Amino acid sequence: MKIMDFRSDTVTKPSEEMRRIMACAEVGDDIYGDDPSSNALSEYAAELTGKEAAIYTCSGTMGNLLAFLSAGRHGESLLAGKRSHVWNAEVGGFSAIAGLCPYPLNDDEGIPAAADLAPANRADNNIHHPDTTILCLENTHNYTGGIAVSPERFAEVAREGHRLGFHVHLDGARIFNASVFHGVDVKAFTDEIDSVQFCLSKGLGAPMGSMLCGSHEFIERAKKARKRIGGAQRQVGIAAAAGLYALKNNIPRLSEDHDNAKLLSELLIKGGVHVEEVPNMTNMIFFPMLDGYPSDERFVSACRERGLLLNALSPRRVRLVTHLDVDREDVERAASIILEVISQ
Ligand SMILES: *Cc1c(COP(=O)(O)O)cnc(C)c1O
Repeated sequence: MKIMDFRSDTVTKPSEEMRRIMACAEVGDDIYGDDPSSNALSEYAAELTGKEAAIYTCSGTMGNLLAFLSAGRHGESLLAGKRSHVWNAEVGGFSAIAGLCPYPLNDDEGIPAAADLAPANRADNNIHHPDTTILCLENTHNYTGGIAVSPERFAEVAREGHRLGFHVHLDGARIFNASVFHGVDVKAFTDEIDSVQFCLSKGLGAPMGSMLCGSHEFIERAKKARKRIGGAQRQVGIAAAAGLYALKNNIPRLSEDHDNAKLLSELLIKGGVHVEEVPNMTNMIFFPMLDGYPSDERFVSACRERGLLLNALSPRRVRLVTHLDVDREDVERAASIILEVISQ
């Protein structure tokens, strides 16, 4: 039985061609700056995002953490959405490791409102307050349903962040999904911010790694922070070569993933499932497990028995993510499996 894996876009496996490129990658000791493949990837990522410099990081979580370590100091305040990945899924690294005090903002629409920033700013000369130094935005926004926040909305919030003197960091794990969705160059987003982290290992199909991009000075600090937390690696070019291949080949095709998610949503809605309605939906869909449906565990395991892997991300809320290792046919089969399991 073919297994169809819709748990996340992180489950993609490197293609034959990507593996060939990894096997022949030129490498060197990246801590000495001697790895040609890593250097080429950094240059390309910086150029793509319109930043001066970039570094490879082991994961998106590490990319975000390095941004916090480089832009903030212990005791300062970080503004981030209540439903953001940094707040919910990075084990509190911003506070445990970077020492930042979090200040949560409402991001139910995928991004905080510009008007909410000034009242949250505590760099206001009140002796009791931790200075606010960093604003972290996320696009696409995972937990609200993969919303691709529009360039206009995004720019408005980022500019307000700058007006208030913050370092604006973008957790852009899936920023290329946002740029492809809106049909704009990724710079429409990255021009507005100081630093961006994006994942090579999600929809782009590389087996590992993320990039952190920003000014020369910022990236020099991030390099040192990366060394401190043990994230500097040696012949990292084997992974970097896959990342460069992914960036050069797999961005435009993200629209197929969006089409597939839309088809999946339509098929489920037609079958009576209450798929969450999301503006600017990209490559994921969520639906609630209604009263009368099986328990989360039973639902997930009944789907698994039929060859479909998916995630109950939070209690009674299921997520499916499309990516380059599932096609239209898989989507049709997934929808019919879900409808069959729910009706039992
Ligand atoms: C996956 C993800 C990350 C973290 O990436 P890892 O490589 O899993 O550490 C950060 N932010 C968002 C929005 C993500 O979806």
